[in-house]
Amino acid sequence: MSTRWEVGRNEVVYVERYLSGRAVTVVDHSDGDGPLYAPSKRVYPQSVRGTYRTIKWIVLVITLGIYYALPFVRWDRGPNAPGQAVLIDFPSSRFYFFFIEIWPQEVYYITGLLVLAAMTLFFMNAVAGRVWCGYLCPQTVWTDLFYAVERFFEGDRRERMRNAAGKMTLELAARKAAKHTTWLLIAWWTGGAWVLYFADAPTLVRQLATFNAPAVAWIWIGILTFTTYSLAGFMREQVCIYMCPWPRIQAALTDEHALNVTYRYDRGEPRGALKRNEALREQGLPAGDCIDCGQCVAVCPTGVDIRKGLQVDCIQCGLCIDACDSIMARIDRPPRLIAYDTDLNVRKRQLGEAASGTRLVRGRTVLYAAIMLVVGGIMLFSLATRDVSGLAVIHDRNPLFVALRDGSIRNAYTIRLLNKELEARRFVVTVEGLEGAELEIVGAAAGGAVKPVIEVGPDRTAEARVLVTRRGAPLADDSVPVTFVITDEITGVSARASDHFMGPHK
Ligand code: SF4
Ligand code: SF4
Repeated sequence: MSTRWEVGRNEVVYVERYLSGRAVTVVDHSDGDGPLYAPSKRVYPQSVRGTYRTIKWIVLVITLGIYYALPFVRWDRGPNAPGQAVLIDFPSSRFYFFFIEIWPQEVYYITGLLVLAAMTLFFMNAVAGRVWCGYLCPQTVWTDLFYAVERFFEGDRRERMRNAAGKMTLELAARKAAKHTTWLLIAWWTGGAWVLYFADAPTLVRQLATFNAPAVAWIWIGILTFTTYSLAGFMREQVCIYMCPWPRIQAALTDEHALNVTYRYDRGEPRGALKRNEALREQGLPAGDCIDCGQCVAVCPTGVDIRKGLQVDCIQCGLCIDACDSIMARIDRPPRLIAYDTDLNVRKRQLGEAASGTRLVRGRTVLYAAIMLVVGGIMLFSLATRDVSGLAVIHDRNPLFVALRDGSIRNAYTIRLLNKELEARRFVVTVEGLEGAELEIVGAAAGGAVKPVIEVGPDRTAEARVLVTRRGAPLADDSVPVTFVITDEITGVSARASDHFMGPHK
């Protein structure tokens, strides 16, 4: 089924039922085959006021505020650990996030976080399409900020277009210089904030201010200054349209119940000048609410005409809704000619049926929410019950065993002890599963009956060589499973690791 709408002098939009029942718009440029490659057109988005613009400002302030301020938030972990709330500590191979400390052995938490992030993105997509792109994506947020700076120095859409078409004057050059200087300062601070996540922020700021910071910090600040300046200042919507894979993936993941910014053809068409449409209405002839003012296109940061239907270029920011609502208010027509709506409703309207509400609870939203709950639950449980000590054992490869003069068999191992507490701990090392076994720590002072004990510093690991000697009767097999146990002298908390005790072939 297909419904045809004439939406412009040379363009026709077909809204048709497609594959899984989704309504898809197809733009047909009726003046013949279009070019295979279109040159990018310069976009001069106009400022706009309204609900969605306000939401975007709030999100921008919150997200950038968090990004720039978070490295300076302190978190007291005691005297033996860094006091920065969020820190990626490469020299110590640790990741600190408030009360959570992740060791290299616990990298599965990062996997869990990535799964949660992906599911959150899928869930947002199932509910409201590209809401991530329109409001939260760093590219959108920084581009928005850079546009605000551009408007401040060079004026709104018309003035910028006039300047671009006219000659360069001294005043314009000064305004452009001020804009680029501000852009570079923002880009510099963006790169600067990034490196603060990898070192103690106040210390690194002092080092940067006195030019004593390590070279790697300068290099990363330089790289991120350049990428922010070029991506947000120059490439802007090109990143969303051509570079980002998410619009393609998103299109494959969405369905007819997801909310998308939608032009309501049934209400807007046939479009026409205000007076003409009013005259048509008075005569009882069909006339839409769209007065073809072009404001929805003028405010669009990607230069999209939403009246041509859902397009991959549209980041679903909702600014065209604000623009059109202000026009509707001026011509005394109801708001939301452009609105968040579902493909299903678009199709229903084409068929003359009443639009329905939004169906939030459906298979995919339940599935994504369930995965998030399960993964989040597992992560929380394992964090709450995580071991504060750990043990790894490696058997010597050569020789596998040594036969002593008295007939005893000796095996050598390297053991690594982990102490995740923020204070030093002493661990007693024992071996289980081998009758008559004696354990000795290489290098430990001979102490008669003294237990084999290893001290591990706060939030540290320690490595030791141990010798296990089996005296008495010959081994039952050439390889006997054994378990090494380390036990905290004070708390009794223990950790275990399995290996084998080797002997001569039977
Ligand atoms: S802003 Fe509204 S009235 Fe103006 S062209 Fe866009 S849809 Fe039509
Ligand atoms: S068409 Fe509307 S929602 Fe889409 S990017 Fe442009 S302004 Fe944003």
